[in-house]
Amino acid sequence: MLPKSADIVIIGGGVMGASAAYHLAERGGVSVALVEKEADFGQGSTGLCAGGIRHQFSTEVNVRLSIESIRMLERFPEEIGQDIGLKQIGYLFILDNEQDMAQFRQNVALQNRLGVASRVLSVEEIRARVPLLNLDGVVGGTFYERDGLADPHSVVMGYINRARQLARRPGASPLHLLTGTEVVDIRLSGGKVQAVVTTQGEIATGTILIAAGAWSGRIGDMLGLNIPIVPVRRQIAVTTPLPELPPDFPFVLFFGQSLYFHPESGQSILTGMSNKDETPGFKMGVDPRWTEIHLLAAMERFPLLEKAGLLSEWAGPYEVTPDEQAILGRLPEVDGAFIAAGFSGHGFMHGPIVGKLMAEEILDGRAHTVNIDDLRYDRFLRQDRDVREYNVV
Ligand SMILES: Cc1cc2nc3c(=O)[nH]c(=O)nc-3n(C[C@H](O)[C@H](O)[C@H](O)COP(=O)(O)OP(=O)(O)OC[C@H]3O[C@@H](n4cnc5c(N)ncnc54)[C@H](O)[C@@H]3O)c2cc1C
Repeated sequence: MLPKSADIVIIGGGVMGASAAYHLAERGGVSVALVEKEADFGQGSTGLCAGGIRHQFSTEVNVRLSIESIRMLERFPEEIGQDIGLKQIGYLFILDNEQDMAQFRQNVALQNRLGVASRVLSVEEIRARVPLLNLDGVVGGTFYERDGLADPHSVVMGYINRARQLARRPGASPLHLLTGTEVVDIRLSGGKVQAVVTTQGEIATGTILIAAGAWSGRIGDMLGLNIPIVPVRRQIAVTTPLPELPPDFPFVLFFGQSLYFHPESGQSILTGMSNKDETPGFKMGVDPRWTEIHLLAAMERFPLLEKAGLLSEWAGPYEVTPDEQAILGRLPEVDGAFIAAGFSGHGFMHGPIVGKLMAEEILDGRAHTVNIDDLRYDRFLRQDRDVREYNVV
């Protein structure tokens, strides 16, 4: 039931909202409402994503977010009480030009400096690791074995169920988990948040966390703020099982083509390829012309796929910012407004740590487990800092 008031209202129940709800419930002392427009949690980008997790980024802040988040995913069954299908099968970036190779050598040096044991691979080492791939034109790659996959639905529901349990402890503050409830307006007074207006009624609150993924720009409009996040369609296809698929097949990404493969449910392959010419918009259906281009490219790089059928396919929105980096923390222009959105296609893996950081930012005044200054909204106001992430798929 919709509460009359809550100390904190989280808008959006994907991985960010679910993780934030759990971490706020764990800290305790504040009442929280998590508001999701769909009939269930995790139906937005989180439920449509490929489930990849990796430490291999080009910016220090993203590597640090991955270090913390993947550690939390490794401990998830013990700490949250939910199996999340974690498979650290390794993540192999395959590169087809010297410019990318030079950048990825720098990335590996940064990752190594931060304690991540990723490494550069020669073409021969890649061939030995995954002999089934066509490596024409490839100049090298990078690999890290602690990267891999986890199941997004299990992560979301793990956080939701654990948060619910915490809220049932004697003396715990109320937690309201609301689905089928869309935020349609936000009331402000004197530049301060007063209430969230939903399709089910109004919740008085002084604090909101925008965790609305690709829809976050619309929440910005309600605040009179330009939050530069646009939806961009990305597609995924899953094949019928391939008995010849070796059990140690890793997450493989041909970086220059934005083309990736990973084992799915045993012996199927999940594959995606980003259409760099896709225009922004909430296009939730599959583009059959892109499916054809994608699958032809996939079969060229991974000829075994010619033996497979197409089991299923779908599309979902990336939540893209101008520098393809997330926007995190307090919003400077509206008192009581916080944001964790705009992960530009790599947010599932950062959900665990970002929920914790948002609890710190709201309750302690500042996120402290990881320094998020490079990802704050004010970078767009000053335009003096380029924190672009290179390893975007
Ligand atoms: C095809 C594809 C593949 C991807 N692969 C990967 C990957 O391998 N690894 C990775 O880390 N990331 C991947 N991503 C990106 C990842 O899915 C996102 O970065 C991440 O899920 C973002 O989580 P979120 O909670 O911010 O957004 P979402 O999961 O979209 O959650 C936002 C929620 O807000 C709700 N909402 C919106 N507006 C309102 C409103 N007005 N009122 C109430 N609720 C509202 C939505 O219904 C939604 O449930 C992929 C994305 C796609 C589309």
